[in-house]
Amino acid sequence: MRRIDKIIVHCSATPEGRHHTASEIDAWHRDQGFRCIGYHYVVLLDGKIEAGRAEAEVGAHCTGENSHSIGVCYIGGCDKSMKPKDTRTEAQKKSLVSLLTALKEKYPDASIHGHREFAAKACPSFDAAVEYAGIGLYVEVTENDNFVSVDEQFELPETENILEEIPNLKEMLSEHEAGETPSNPSAWGCLPLLLLL
Ligand SMILES: [Zn+2]
Repeated sequence: MRRIDKIIVHCSATPEGRHHTASEIDAWHRDQGFRCIGYHYVVLLDGKIEAGRAEAEVGAHCTGENSHSIGVCYIGGCDKSMKPKDTRTEAQKKSLVSLLTALKEKYPDASIHGHREFAAKACPSFDAAVEYAGIGLYVEVTENDNFVSVDEQFELPETENILEEIPNLKEMLSEHEAGETPSNPSAWGCLPLLLLL
């Protein structure tokens, strides 16, 4: 497995409320001359997490950062007139926390960022670095009442239950890392590319 020191959050730059899937993004990226979807995971409007490129493969989502990062994309990120807007549904917010928590467990040295930190873009239309700063920083609360958990400080949702709500998430991540063929189509076995959103 390659070294991962960043997890980078993106939006699909599509209008609020419009449903799209990982295989559609795969088709768009191919239409633009790329060999396949550039992201490793896609979070749909209903919170469903779809696998994109295998984690072991270099993604194509953030120029200059692809070789050592994982790319996560939520569907949306624009209002109806295509201006940047944080359009995440409650289900997407929850799934993003679940996915990022699982990825942080897997790559504890990786930091979480928004694409905008590396490019002159609005993507992902919210401040991912600030919002997700507390993910993975869990401190046990012991007998000392003054010792506040980091999750509490950042007011994260209850992460313990979150991973259970998507029971197959961890299995999905570990299978996906190995580059095994997902159930979903054409997107796999691609070469690294430079990109895009
Ligand atoms: Zn992006």
